[in-house]
Amino acid sequence: TQRTLVLLKPDTVRRGLVGEVIGRFEAKGLSLVAMELRTIDAAKADEHYAEHVERDFYPPLRAFVTSGPLVAMVLEGDEAIEVVRALNGATDGRKAAPGTIRGDLSLSNRENLVHGSDSPESAEREIKIWFPGL
Ligand code: ATP
Repeated sequence: TQRTLVLLKPDTVRRGLVGEVIGRFEAKGLSLVAMELRTIDAAKADEHYAEHVERDFYPPLRAFVTSGPLVAMVLEGDEAIEVVRALNGATDGRKAAPGTIRGDLSLSNRENLVHGSDSPESAEREIKIWFPGL
């Protein structure tokens, strides 16, 4: 079994899609280990997106992820990291396959509803950032 850090970004909360998205993870069989509604500041965004802070797309991404409450959670299950990323779909909602969260619900490259850790090392790092007590 494996744990992964998932964010339902502020667009998910704003659009009233929290239940829809969590429902997909639960229906798949993943278990909730921790969950919290939180509004983050720029420093927290920079810590989470450390690998992207120098990228051209980062300033608007930082503005977006700090624009309102998001839901942070830890999900657990067999191969949870890969399973969550498959459910999320490709980064760009316009190109993500139908049937995925982004493919069904997002029409944006930035406001793409969800984040999921991309490797066991990222999951460990991100879980420490968001849920230091776990
Ligand atoms: P995440 O890490 O959030 O699960 P991802 O791994 O699919 O998404 P990354 O390449 O790590 O995507 O980019 C992180 C986030 O930055 C994306 O989810 C998206 O919100 C934003 N992003 C990435 N590329 C672009 C871009 N070209 N233009 C605007 N926003 C972007």
